[in-house]
Amino acid sequence: MSNDTAAMIVDSAVYKTLLESTLAIPWKIDWETLRFAYIGPQIERLLGWPQGSWLSIDDWVERMHPEDRERVVNFCVAQSKAGIDHEADYRALKADGSYVWIRDVVHVVRDDDGEVESLIGFMFDISERKQTEERLLRLQRELEALSYQDGLTGAANRRRLDAVLETEWASGRRSGRPLSLIMLDIDCFKQYNDRFGHLAGDDCLRRVVEVVGTSALRPRDLLARFGGEEFALVLPETDRDAALRVAQRCRALIAEAAIAHPASEVSPLLTLSMGVATALPSDVVAPTWLLETADRRLYRAKQGGRDRIVAE
Ligand code: GH3
Ligand code: MG
Ligand code: MG
Repeated sequence: MSNDTAAMIVDSAVYKTLLESTLAIPWKIDWETLRFAYIGPQIERLLGWPQGSWLSIDDWVERMHPEDRERVVNFCVAQSKAGIDHEADYRALKADGSYVWIRDVVHVVRDDDGEVESLIGFMFDISERKQTEERLLRLQRELEALSYQDGLTGAANRRRLDAVLETEWASGRRSGRPLSLIMLDIDCFKQYNDRFGHLAGDDCLRRVVEVVGTSALRPRDLLARFGGEEFALVLPETDRDAALRVAQRCRALIAEAAIAHPASEVSPLLTLSMGVATALPSDVVAPTWLLETADRRLYRAKQGGRDRIVAE
């Protein structure tokens, strides 16, 4: 044996040890037969399938999540045919029936004529990275939701109200349907706080949102906290009569809830005053008209003795 050959044998033994002791799983596929020429023994520890069960590319395809299969196989075949190195993330099926996220990094080997000869690559277990990504995405969605929510009551906040008013106004302009808005304000709420304390006042605000929020609102209706003890109800595709009926229902539901308010000047139970406004959205009239009009009518409801609805 020449020294060179001996060195090569030592080298390949070293390479084999190195390859089979890393966390990344090496493999080689012969391009002509599409059969595995090699796959690292670590594959069994990761997926549970024995090293010897990886025969052809079909074994790889079949042990992939059905939702990932088409995308990944099409992509990898196209890249390989074009002779382009590539990588793909997918869920690999484990012998126990569960899945693990894999990143496959593929190098296309060509012969002297430039023909594709084989594919060699590494599979990496990226489940932890994927879990972190998913956690971050969930967190981001939660933050988005929170940024549109009133922290105390869970109703929509002012920012969301403004955004929804804009989109519903535009939608009403396209459809030619009316848009209504109800402003609701708790009567004598200052006395409620004075009597029961601020924390009880907070509970009361939450209760009012709960009661008004379940007044059989349709999916597109929006209940928002306008500020303090004042709320706005946005009612798309709702004319004046229908909006008035919603206001009456809110008033009835609050009466039914029978929230004690002995310090009120109006009634021994908590009451609301409301201003209702309806508009046919147009370029001339803006959504602020709805807010201002509903607010003016709410003021008149207060002037008129509270615990009432003003709709014109
Ligand atoms: P009116 O019938 O004319 O509406 O009288 P009112 O007492 O309800 O209205 P006023 O504007 O005089 O007082 C509103 C009160 O609402 C005063 C304020 O302390 C209270 N308030 C506003 N925001 C909150 C809150 O987040 N929590 C609590 N507990 N009270 C709040
Ligand atoms: Mg009030
Ligand atoms: Mg008020």
